[in-house]
Amino acid sequence: GNKIRNAKLVLLGDVGAGKSSLVLRFVKGQFVEFQESTIGAAFFSQTLAVNDETVKFEIWDTAGQERYHSLAPMYYRGAAAAIVVYDISNQGSFTRAKKWVQELQAQGNQNTVVALAGNKADLVETRQVQIEEAKTYAQENGLFFMETSAKTATNVNDIFYEIARRLLQG
Ligand code: GDP
Ligand code: MG
Repeated sequence: GNKIRNAKLVLLGDVGAGKSSLVLRFVKGQFVEFQESTIGAAFFSQTLAVNDETVKFEIWDTAGQERYHSLAPMYYRGAAAAIVVYDISNQGSFTRAKKWVQELQAQGNQNTVVALAGNKADLVETRQVQIEEAKTYAQENGLFFMETSAKTATNVNDIFYEIARRLLQG
């Protein structure tokens, strides 16, 4: 049938990892080189069809700055899905991503589908985080992992699609 499933989704990760850019790519099919920093959090909604069902994502794009950290639980509590984003050319952002995963696993909802996105996959020349390292970490922590590029659109629809598929299954 034509069931619509609402799904709250939150993006978490370091400032500059590309959270807003992933959302902009997914929702509007656009990319900007000088994406403005998010203040607090921004809301978007986008539907995605999976077979004969529709998932309506209610997307909370968080800021990532430490000074907004205390707001994060408002966004991830009750979230059906989370995308934890790091920048493959920034090892520090991967460390921050792991902290977010820990926090989600400690404070979040056990049923939240968590995806790990190694963003800026186009920046292979300046890569600091190896695919194998991230893949192993994801497997050990029950996340699913993809490298994405908001710039080239690589795997952006795919990561949202895979989340939708898992939500409908679960
Ligand atoms: P946020 O703080 O996590 O929301 O990160 P933004 O979406 O604001 O992106 C930070 C910067 O990285 C911006 O200048 C973006 O244009 C750039 N950026 C985001 N995604 C990509 C990507 O996939 N590839 C490249 N090369 N740059 C990106
Ligand atoms: Mg942002």
